[in-house]
Amino acid sequence: MAQQAEVNGVSSNIKDFDSLAPSIQELVDVAIAVRENAYCPYSNFPVGAAIRTTDGKIYAGCNVENGAYGPTVCAERTAISKAVSEGYTSFTEIAVVAFQEHDFTSPCGMCRQFMSEFVSDDMPVYMARPSCTEVLCSSVCGLLPHRYIPTHDKK
Ligand SMILES: [Zn+2]
Repeated sequence: MAQQAEVNGVSSNIKDFDSLAPSIQELVDVAIAVRENAYCPYSNFPVGAAIRTTDGKIYAGCNVENGAYGPTVCAERTAISKAVSEGYTSFTEIAVVAFQEHDFTSPCGMCRQFMSEFVSDDMPVYMARPSCTEVLCSSVCGLLPHRYIPTHDKK
């Protein structure tokens, strides 16, 4: 069953995991699995992400923290960087999984801008908890309205 919800001021849909297409369930499951590899001794907040390329390949990433804090890389940027380093710059959807008792974990501001470089406004973003009975469904534009995209035009 789907329900409208206001999450952090953004209208979003919360759907039952079982109601999602098998391809989306697979993406969320990959994000859940890679979360086990998170290197997060400072926050103890493991996050997993999985992004699907336009030709169906899935790249997974986890957060990789650093003792100096600043060099820390989020799961979303790890997954996207892995894909880009393999030659993929076009994506169809991304899933992000972390555990918060009463909320879904959405991409941080830096990750929202980072993913907006490579995706369309309406690319779905799925956020779930590891138990995964419900999934918060949004989009890049829903998470980052009026996103900044350079035109690459030379002046
Ligand atoms: Zn982030």
